[in-house]
Amino acid sequence: MIRKKEKGQLIVLSGPSGVGKSTVIAELLGQRRDIYFSVSYTTRQPRVGEQNGVNYNFVSREEFEGMIQRDELLEYAEYVSNYYGTSLKTIQEKLDAGIDVLLDIEVQGAAKVRSRCPDALFIFIIPPSFEELSRRLHGRHTDSEEVIQGRLEKARQEATEISKYDYLVINDKVSNAVSEIESILTAAQCRVENR
Ligand code: 5GP
Repeated sequence: MIRKKEKGQLIVLSGPSGVGKSTVIAELLGQRRDIYFSVSYTTRQPRVGEQNGVNYNFVSREEFEGMIQRDELLEYAEYVSNYYGTSLKTIQEKLDAGIDVLLDIEVQGAAKVRSRCPDALFIFIIPPSFEELSRRLHGRHTDSEEVIQGRLEKARQEATEISKYDYLVINDKVSNAVSEIESILTAAQCRVENR
């Protein structure tokens, strides 16, 4: 029986848009510099302050559909009229090198990862309430009312998928959410491999 895995751990983090995932992830990565954050491909327009290659790889619909046809994506989904997807090659290289990889993806994509990578760790992060989520989405002043309503509707649908995840974290306070995720990662590392 061994505890240490030679391959990296794939960590999937999902949660409704506006829950504060980016803030939680930034703080987590600041504390756990050994984790590689997978920069997704998307056809959505960059928000103010977002950088190509850092927050996302921003591509056209044609480029994205080319990646789908060439089977270059581990998973992808269409979310509020835009494509989002994860590069298969990058993830594979990191995991093979023993590096843990973090994916920030929505529930349809996470379900695909579940079927392709059953050893991945699935964490769902939720806001303290829908009212708070609505406040956060309006407060960031980045999306139109129509887009916000679409994201709130998505959040309600996504909440029904929580049982497909291994862990649930409530993002009431960022530092608490981060320390809960760190505890989950530590517990995963300590697991005996051949149960
Ligand atoms: P946002 O537009 O707010 O940055 O992201 C919208 C949703 O897309 C979020 O729930 C985020 O987790 C998800 N997302 C980001 N990258 C990917 C990806 O590569 N694949 C999938 N399936 N979802 C993603």
